[in-house]
Amino acid sequence: MKYAFYPGCVARGAAPELFASTIEVARRLGIELDYEPMRGASCTGAGVLQEKNQRLGDTLNARTFAMAEKAGLPLMVICSTCQGVMSQASKRFKDDPAYLAEINKDLAEEGLQYKGTVEPKHLLWAIIEDIGIDKLKAQVVKPLKGMKLAPFYGCYIVRPSAALGFAEHPEREDSLEQVIKAVGAEVVDFRGKTLCCGFPILTINQNNALKMVANHTLEAKGNGADAMVTPCPLCHLNLDGYQPAAAGLRKQPIDMPIIHLPQMLGMAMGIEPKALKLNKHLVSTKKLLSDLVLAP
Ligand code: SF4
Ligand code: SF4
Repeated sequence: MKYAFYPGCVARGAAPELFASTIEVARRLGIELDYEPMRGASCTGAGVLQEKNQRLGDTLNARTFAMAEKAGLPLMVICSTCQGVMSQASKRFKDDPAYLAEINKDLAEEGLQYKGTVEPKHLLWAIIEDIGIDKLKAQVVKPLKGMKLAPFYGCYIVRPSAALGFAEHPEREDSLEQVIKAVGAEVVDFRGKTLCCGFPILTINQNNALKMVANHTLEAKGNGADAMVTPCPLCHLNLDGYQPAAAGLRKQPIDMPIIHLPQMLGMAMGIEPKALKLNKHLVSTKKLLSDLVLAP
């Protein structure tokens, strides 16, 4: 299956291991990622731009949608924040055709027009809805048997559910749990899995942001998790990158690896940890990997 691929900037900048592992995993799942139609696409606005100027943010996303629509391809993203911001824009276009018509006047300057047919779709959802869990299972050569993984959705891929199509796609509700089970790992449930990680308040209230990192990681650890899995590179940046500071604040070690969704899939597909860039995290994944090697 072929998609117009919008990796977002975090996967190309601060979290390149997400990009690298996505490419590896997509190849094995028969997913063709086409960058060409998306050359020159901008940031989604990340919700930050929308707070100041929603119309401008929506124009940027309509432009991105128009590029995918012109190529006649479904649009794939690998970041929950991209997904959430795009889905909210998409809903506004569907609900208000006159608003979209106004925005199209701006796109016309570039010779673009958005007709309203694009449904941005995260890799996580594409696996469940387009590729199929059975096809994923068929690619598992090294089941993550005995590995206990806590799903961390974060917020942008679960709220607001009306914009994210949960009524039409109830399977999205537990999509992470489904893929964790499909690769042979054990799901560790915890209360914080759909709560904010604290990233948005990092620059204005670092203390509270660190407390949120500590709460989530320690709760998952207390429930027995060996690692947490997330479909959002920003959640990863916060939960991994600020975990040492959060542990310092709590005055207790945490040592909770935070794994990107395609890294987890890649481990089960037998892809070399180096190719998945599992050595690029701040919180070491060494123990997780050695447990996997030792598993019978
Ligand atoms: S929403 Fe975030 S990851 Fe997506 S394009 Fe914007 S800044 Fe990049
Ligand atoms: S949990 Fe944090 S980083 Fe993740 S989507 Fe929510 S605010 Fe963003």
